[in-house]
Amino acid sequence: MPYTLPALPYPPAAFEPHIDAKTMEIHHGKHHAAYVTNANKALEGTAWAELPAEQLMGKLAELPDDKRVVLRNNAGGHFNHSLFFRTLAPAGGPAASAELTDAIDATFGTLQAMKEQFADAAVKRFGSGWAWLCVMPGGKLKICSTANQDNPLMGEAIAGCGGAPILGLDVWEHAYYLHYQNRRADYITAFWNVVNWAEVSKNFGAAKR
Ligand code: MN
Repeated sequence: MPYTLPALPYPPAAFEPHIDAKTMEIHHGKHHAAYVTNANKALEGTAWAELPAEQLMGKLAELPDDKRVVLRNNAGGHFNHSLFFRTLAPAGGPAASAELTDAIDATFGTLQAMKEQFADAAVKRFGSGWAWLCVMPGGKLKICSTANQDNPLMGEAIAGCGGAPILGLDVWEHAYYLHYQNRRADYITAFWNVVNWAEVSKNFGAAKR
């Protein structure tokens, strides 16, 4: 199988009360799992089956018509959820690295200003999609939002936004509805309590090289 569902590196209740255990179980065990299954069905026996999802994202334009949409949605979904679950950690973990903090301050002024701009992108996404913190060529940071399971690695022409995503927030209703119902803004506020800044800092270090 080209892709496998990564195990959650923490128990589903690890993010209570910010993200509830039932949501984590369904989100990972059903939604993420379905993206993996559907991507694998489309990739099996093709020239792209050996390619990590991250690399496939930049090659969607090369895919035949019958594969492009299903892999945009499902390989996209697999990449996005892998990043999302990896960049969560129980509340009280370490802060961002000095290097990432400097980059945040240089681009946004303060961490708080970055959070506000990110939350704005997340709350304004109409329907389903994601908010992203990305590294642009040259090391500058940028915030953007994409629809559905698109992501910045797909490039500006497809996703409407480019760069290397280092932090992503899922704002599909399946990510928050059990606990927050229509209160997406409250879910976004709570999200900051469970960001894995060590992992985001690692992503930043890798992306800006
Ligand atoms: Mn999701």
